Amino acid sequence: MKAKLLILGCGSSVGVPRIDGVWGNCKKNNKKNIRSRSSAIIIKGTNYILIDTSPDLKYQLLSNKIKNISSVILTHEHADQTNGLFELRPIFWRHKKKINIYGDTHTIKLINKRHDYLFKKTGSYPPIFKSNIIKSKFSLGESNEKVFFKSIKVRHGKINSLAYIFEKTAYISDTNDLSIIKMDEFKNLKYLIIDCLKFKKHPSHFTLKESLLVHQKLKPKKTILTNLNHDLDYNYLIKILPRDVVPAYDGLKISL
Ligand SMILES: [Zn+2]
Repeated sequence: MKAKLLILGCGSSVGVPRIDGVWGNCKKNNKKNIRSRSSAIIIKGTNYILIDTSPDLKYQLLSNKIKNISSVILTHEHADQTNGLFELRPIFWRHKKKINIYGDTHTIKLINKRHDYLFKKTGSYPPIFKSNIIKSKFSLGESNEKVFFKSIKVRHGKINSLAYIFEKTAYISDTNDLSIIKMDEFKNLKYLIIDCLKFKKHPSHFTLKESLLVHQKLKPKKTILTNLNHDLDYNYLIKILPRDVVPAYDGLKISL
């Protein structure tokens, strides 16, 4: 069975437009410039694996008509990846089954502290998640719907985040770690979905120049730029990027 990947959101931590109406260089009349906070979902049959829970999760699932989540894998603890955890309560109510959530030890510890009522009974609401510490190699799902993963620690400013590799695809939404260029795990990819925040240097994200350097060195069949802020207009990127690099947009679907 073939898996698909859907980009639910490809925006930076504040999205495009920002809450105060700032669009930056992004043209308002292009729907592909409306970017919710970064997250994605892998779909293989009835196996729905959500990567990160953005603050925009409710509308991301509604607009893509997704009514089930089999597992959640987190890249790191930042608010734009974890503040949508609360939104998954109706999925628990609907399926009456705790949702397995995976992350590194640090991330799992932090989300359990910040959102304790979602993980243990603190009042009248039942907990909805079961925490799991992620392994470097693991699989999610059953029989022909199973997806095999590798998780690799990468630098993201002062913290680490996890890059996920599955079905010859790497998803690295938050990093400024140029050492990935030398890592064998990221070679021979079909898709590289990579952080590309803006033009100017940033302490925890790749610039456009750095993302393109990673693309040139790793040579995947296709690179998809994500975590885009309002510097980077969709049509501008389409014009200047090499043929095998494309900007993501919310709702972009690829067959893996
Ligand atoms: Zn981050």
